[in-house]
Amino acid sequence: MDVFPLMQEGDVENLFFCQDRPSGLKAVIAIHSTALGPSLGGTRFWNYDREEEVIRDALRLAQGMSYKSSVAGLNLGGGKGVIWGDPKNNKSQTLFNAYGRFIERLGGMYITAEDVGTTAQDMDWIAQETRWVVGTSSKGGDPSPYTARGVYQGIKAALEFVDGNSELKDRCIAIQGTGSVGSHLCRMLAREGAQLILCDLDDKACGLLCDETGARQVSPETIHAQKCDVLAPCALGGVINENTIQELRCRIIAGGANNILASERHGDMLEEMGIVYVPDYVSNAGGVIFVADQLDGLDRDRVAAKVDKIRQTSYNILSKAQSENIPTYRAADAIAEERMNRNRDL
Ligand code: NAD
Repeated sequence: MDVFPLMQEGDVENLFFCQDRPSGLKAVIAIHSTALGPSLGGTRFWNYDREEEVIRDALRLAQGMSYKSSVAGLNLGGGKGVIWGDPKNNKSQTLFNAYGRFIERLGGMYITAEDVGTTAQDMDWIAQETRWVVGTSSKGGDPSPYTARGVYQGIKAALEFVDGNSELKDRCIAIQGTGSVGSHLCRMLAREGAQLILCDLDDKACGLLCDETGARQVSPETIHAQKCDVLAPCALGGVINENTIQELRCRIIAGGANNILASERHGDMLEEMGIVYVPDYVSNAGGVIFVADQLDGLDRDRVAAKVDKIRQTSYNILSKAQSENIPTYRAADAIAEERMNRNRDL
């Protein structure tokens, strides 16, 4: 595999390989951009089949973090760590200590946090070796309530944009995935009288949430095809794909999941279909806003105020897309790139 073409494709600044035999650590840290500040992004712990997937995922995720922080107005770049291993069997204090020492050597160019497969406990172990880590158990805990709050604001912005009215009462909203983000979102929307449709692979937990909020439960196979005002994907990526896109019966898509579109082509198709899509990294930026704030000593009111700005940001992106006749994901990318390029030129 040739690495430089991959780095050039995404315009990634650095890629570090980390290996520690005693602990079994094998990791890569990708730094996409430091144009706006030190790169921030979680560490994913995942059992990839092949080395190439580890590298590709790190590069792609780091780029996503740059765009997310840029549009959210944070003075941070994008980076991502990926540890190659089975999160159920390969984790240990010595492994995270070794990983922390590698991060320390980068001197603050990369700041890590939790991601898929890592927890606050893992961050605590990293913090024994470096200060370039947030999301530790003492620094603030779970970001998902703030991620949900941002998604809520993205939904309100889209309703305002489409209907000139952001009221949630009696709006029908289908949420895919009722884990950390989805369940918080569900409760926020229920409090304002929205009609909710939910699904999760965990039938039982989803059922309990339905009982609590008066939502209707459907199967994971049919959630994307529900007739609703808003489809809010809050599970895994790639939910808008070749198989699902023709079956959509929503007017708006706004959710918490990363990489909602299987490819850019699907963003173009949504535009052609007249479905308003709030780009995922815009609506789900609440989590990174929360962890970034920990660098300045966490202030929850300040975080909430910054997260609520996602509403205006989302609205502006939808307006820009409309006036320039481009898909919304392109409008968001243009805003992110403009801010990064402006700083790079300084
Ligand atoms: P989570 O693991 O707590 O919840 C995900 C839920 O989705 C689980 O309950 C799982 O059973 C369910 N699920 C998985 N596949 C499904 C399917 N096909 N159909 C229905 N349900 C399915 O994760 P989370 O923290 O809530 O994150 C959800 C998404 O939001 C992820 O894509 C994550 O990357 C993204 N995200 C999370 C945060 C955060 O603060 N937690 C921040 C930004 C982005």
